[in-house]
Amino acid sequence: MARTVRNGADPAASGPATPAGHLRRREKGPLMPSADFNRRSLLTATIAGAAALCFPPALALANPAEAPAGPSPAEALARLKAGNARFLAGGAALHPASMVGGLAKAQHPYAVIVSCADSRVAPELLFSTGLGELFVVRNAGHSVTPLEMGGIEYAVEHLGAPLIVVLGHERCGAVNAAVEVATKGTALPASLGAMVAPIVPTAREAVHGISGAEATEAAVQANVRRVVDQLRHAPGSLLEEPLEKGRLMIVGARYDLDEGRVTFIA
Ligand SMILES: [Zn+2]
Repeated sequence: MARTVRNGADPAASGPATPAGHLRRREKGPLMPSADFNRRSLLTATIAGAAALCFPPALALANPAEAPAGPSPAEALARLKAGNARFLAGGAALHPASMVGGLAKAQHPYAVIVSCADSRVAPELLFSTGLGELFVVRNAGHSVTPLEMGGIEYAVEHLGAPLIVVLGHERCGAVNAAVEVATKGTALPASLGAMVAPIVPTAREAVHGISGAEATEAAVQANVRRVVDQLRHAPGSLLEEPLEKGRLMIVGARYDLDEGRVTFIA
């Protein structure tokens, strides 16, 4: 998908994030079925299978080349860092009700956040963002199965998000459970075992020779790097091309529960 980004621009010169800033992009994208939604596009939608049912051609950009440029990956990262700084300073999040109408027909998130579902790690709050800014994919332990991958690919390919942040956090319960499984052979009930299964091999390797809180912290950071690596090296995914062409950046971060600070670690 062709799109223009301002690679190389100085992130520091972009100033603080504003709702209007990221809304400039792709305002002209078609949102509803148009005259172009003819028999041919209907056929395309039919043969495209289940994905087309969720994301019909009418939702795709008919002419991406006309879309205004969005932030570069570096600019998007700078916005998130500035947002966490506002959060730490007690600043208000940018989500006035007046934004709702402008977002009703389109979304142009500038970052995908793949985070733990922990109730204390709400991305929109800790990055002090408004509606329409973040495309959030969450589960306990922020694992990426094909289900999560589809959402991530959609946000990058169809919505043009230039940045993916894998966000782990201090004292993660899912990671700690994986450490218990890895080190003590703990059997988790019901679906909890499946939930932590993707984390267990990484946890086993990360905690070798250490224990307690130190082990959990090592596993938390290793789990972030695991998912970052998974996303950066996903053959056949829709992330490959934008990564190769510099339109997409994938980074890992850790949220400090005690301080509220996000530190980028990968
Ligand atoms: Zn967690």
